[in-house]
Amino acid sequence: MSQQAIKIGRNNKNTIIIEHSKVGREHAVIIKIGETEYLIKDLDSTHGTFVDSNRIKQTQITAESKIQLADFELDTKLILSKLNSPDFKKQIKYSDLLQQKELIEKFLDLENIYEQYKKNKRKIERGGGLKKTGLRAALSLIPFAGNAIGIMAGGALDSRKRIDELNEEFKKKYVCPKCFKHFGQEPFENIKKRGYCFYCKTKWTL
Ligand SMILES: [Zn+2]
Repeated sequence: MSQQAIKIGRNNKNTIIIEHSKVGREHAVIIKIGETEYLIKDLDSTHGTFVDSNRIKQTQITAESKIQLADFELDTKLILSKLNSPDFKKQIKYSDLLQQKELIEKFLDLENIYEQYKKNKRKIERGGGLKKTGLRAALSLIPFAGNAIGIMAGGALDSRKRIDELNEEFKKKYVCPKCFKHFGQEPFENIKKRGYCFYCKTKWTL
């Protein structure tokens, strides 16, 4: 069985390619050795591999370790996420990996946007309902109910307007971070589970 490992360096034999002059052609390898245990090995690089500022030949690391290839600092959590992804063998430039991370972060922000939208919508709808019930109760006490019916219709219009505004804002914010198309009313969980944008096919995974 092949090892779950990621080779990092400047040439295209690596899983992660870093275009930086001091990074070696094949600089280092990170190997998964346990559920949350990893090993980093320097591949006889000229400028060295450093973990928490100590030059190493090989050592165990965690997500908290600070890793540098020469003077180039890696995003350790990002590298380990890549190593733990089903696509860990898929070659990628480090700069593209960083872009992918940014995209995923933006995508994950949509969960909050979706939840807030649902919450605010419920609040407006419930608020409108309460107002109507209150007015209806008041109506029975007022001899000249004509005016009150006018006020009641006004309240309903007001909440309709607020929902329209909320929908407008939601349309602008609940969008694919890559192609900016609106996801409509599809719940965040569904889009996350699908793993990619229905329109531009961009993936939310590493
Ligand atoms: Zn898209």
